[in-house]
Amino acid sequence: MEKKNIVAGNWKMNKTNQEAKEFIKNLAPLIQSARASVYIAPSFTALQESILAAKNTNIIIGAQNMHDEVDGAFTGEVSGIMLKALGCEFVILGHSERRHIFQEDNTFINRKLIRALKDGLNPILCIGETQKERDEKKTEIVLEEQFLKGIQNVAKKDALNIILAYEPVWAIGTGKTATPKIAEQTHAFIRKLIIKYFDKEISKKMHILYGGSVKAQNVEELMQQENIDGVLVGGASLEYKSFAEIINKA
Ligand code: PEP
Repeated sequence: MEKKNIVAGNWKMNKTNQEAKEFIKNLAPLIQSARASVYIAPSFTALQESILAAKNTNIIIGAQNMHDEVDGAFTGEVSGIMLKALGCEFVILGHSERRHIFQEDNTFINRKLIRALKDGLNPILCIGETQKERDEKKTEIVLEEQFLKGIQNVAKKDALNIILAYEPVWAIGTGKTATPKIAEQTHAFIRKLIIKYFDKEISKKMHILYGGSVKAQNVEELMQQENIDGVLVGGASLEYKSFAEIINKA
């Protein structure tokens, strides 16, 4: 089967349920002939409305986060089975905002990832270095650690349910995009990590998305790179026309 590119929108803490519904109703007709698969991650409160609005469209809805336990005394948290029951198909894990603002570490992210797989959700595992780590030439060490610890205890048979996203922290919401060359070099390194820890076949099939200030103006050049299989978009996914433009170019 042909490997389709993926364009995923991460809305972060934006859009009410009504705004989400309106957005999806406006977006759907503009992307009917898109070649790429389209994913959107609204806030928890807009998930149900988004899932209903996305019915009979080519838009797949998922969540921005989940807890690693099935249920219990975890005030304010949401479990994978709750998301699955609602109709979510994927969950973003290890986003740099979760790592840095909410102090989530690789071990916790791995527990969530294992749970997401058990619950039938496709995790989008985000990895990426800070500016300081890049300056100190630690990018590869950081990525290998985040990847390895993130996928620990994942059986080979489950590997292809995971989508990877390389998101250099210095490029998220900053307007600074990694040049296609830097992104490609890093994606090629990540592809090698997949071979090292899974195998060549899995590495060919696994999606590696790029994220960090992706816009309609830079998406084509990024997508032309051999090892970039899609994009994870924050800011530019909040407006349906710009998001449609990105989708239709990917
Ligand atoms: C993100 O939050 O995943 C992201 C890539 O954000 P932005 O596109 O705004 O840089």
